[in-house]
Amino acid sequence: MALISTEALVLRGHKLGETSRIVVLLTRERGKLRAVARGARSGRPRYRSALEPLSEVRVSLYGRQGAELLRLGEAELLHSAFRASERSLEAALFLSSCAELLDAFCSEGEAEDKVYRLALAVVRATEAGANPALLGRYLEAWLLKLHGLFPPLDRCASCSKALAAGALHYHRAAQGFVCAECGPGSGPDLSAEARTLLGLVFSKPPDALTGDGGPSVQPLEAFHRDLIGAHLERDLRAPRVIRDVGRGGAR
Ligand SMILES: [Zn+2]
Repeated sequence: MALISTEALVLRGHKLGETSRIVVLLTRERGKLRAVARGARSGRPRYRSALEPLSEVRVSLYGRQGAELLRLGEAELLHSAFRASERSLEAALFLSSCAELLDAFCSEGEAEDKVYRLALAVVRATEAGANPALLGRYLEAWLLKLHGLFPPLDRCASCSKALAAGALHYHRAAQGFVCAECGPGSGPDLSAEARTLLGLVFSKPPDALTGDGGPSVQPLEAFHRDLIGAHLERDLRAPRVIRDVGRGGAR
């Protein structure tokens, strides 16, 4: 009998020996898990396309409770991210950064149903044609928030008083936005427009975001990257690739 049967998103995979793959899964029930898919590279049809990044699958996993590496039994494809990544190069790159970000944020064996639902909603919104740059900020903001790393938008991080309307002033030492009395902040500052966009991000599903987010998207990306970098203590590779494409720097 399987140790776990659960829905999962495939985050990544790599070769193991001549015929097998190790896949990293974000499971709905147990968080991130690693499993060996035996014969996945020998053309065994049941794994075909089910193990592509961000495929939504139903899997049976075998092995010992608490084992670092489980064995993948059945993997039924529920939904492929293929159509989403076919939309554009930006969408494809966004999805690859999405998988990388989820992988970096999620801990092994720790169920995070909200993160799972967030990931699904973002993949679906990509497929529906939402702007990848905007979706990227959406995913980052929510991953930070769900891990308690996004500072409140309405309270001073130093004195807890309500923040005045308008631009936000970040202060690294306070790990949040500060009021005029507790300021000046260390920066960065976020414009009133960026604050409004964040308000939308935190109150709407991803497919409700229309347009391209305007000039607020780029400062938010830099701000999120700082917060994520401080958390992960390393720079993520994929967001840099996306920026290069945005500048027309990709070959
Ligand atoms: Zn204050």
